[in-house]
Amino acid sequence: MEFRPFRVRLTTRFRGVTERSGVLVRGRMEDGSDAWGEYSPFADYDSERATRWWAAAMEAARGEWPAPVRERVAVNSIVPEVGPAEAARLAVAGGCVVAKVKVGGPGSSSADDRARVEAVAAAVQEVGGARARVRVDANGAWDVDEAVRAIAELDLGARAGGVDGLEYVEQPCATIEGLAAVRRRVSVPIAADESVRVATDPLAVARAGAADILVLKVAPLGGVRACLDLADAAGLPVVVSSAMETSVGLAAGLALALALPELPYACGLGTGVLLAEDVVAHPLVPHDGMLASTPLEVIV
Ligand SMILES: [Mg+2]
Repeated sequence: MEFRPFRVRLTTRFRGVTERSGVLVRGRMEDGSDAWGEYSPFADYDSERATRWWAAAMEAARGEWPAPVRERVAVNSIVPEVGPAEAARLAVAGGCVVAKVKVGGPGSSSADDRARVEAVAAAVQEVGGARARVRVDANGAWDVDEAVRAIAELDLGARAGGVDGLEYVEQPCATIEGLAAVRRRVSVPIAADESVRVATDPLAVARAGAADILVLKVAPLGGVRACLDLADAAGLPVVVSSAMETSVGLAAGLALALALPELPYACGLGTGVLLAEDVVAHPLVPHDGMLASTPLEVIV
């Protein structure tokens, strides 16, 4: 194994950071080719969480990913809390027709959120027609009553923009109990992201009937095979998402998305477009809204 430290800048602030750093791990395969893993836990992580990121990096560097069952996957665009015109532009970046809109943040009123969702819906509908979808992510911002109100309002916004309502709402409340309560009161499907955590039992969400969809991230959950096992045990559809890795880390997410028996939703693996620089010659970014595996020509 060989280790190479890296640091890359982001185009946008994410989780309070403007750059990502870590270590790339190179493993040599029997056929002479290289396999690369990325270890880039966030600075505020404890050793238990960092250990899972390490396990994912080593799995990648050992070339231990399962065989793919598809050649490429649809991905969603990411729309941060920006004004409607900028939101519409970002929604269809990379040819995406499925957009994930951030909502519920402190700097964005419910009217702002609705206007953003409506503008995004109109933009993806124009490009994607019947394939267009709009999902929202509140990152646990709401209590149960706020979530029920906001989801109804944003669903109307999506319809006003020309799509058939919200595809799903991701993490409307912070707690599993909150998710379950919201899920009983709205018809829009609920996706769990932050609530799927190994430390607190990743299957608790499924057992509590708190979500219709699980958002899985390879590095925080300890690798591609760990995620496949989790998806199988949960018995829920999965959206594979990134942890804002470089293209080497994104390749692990793509390996999971390519290997899942079923993949009914576009994945959150299009975040390569948010990197101002990357560690490979040919970044893993979507074309026509799709991501396909690309040989990793590491340049750091
Ligand atoms: Mg999320």
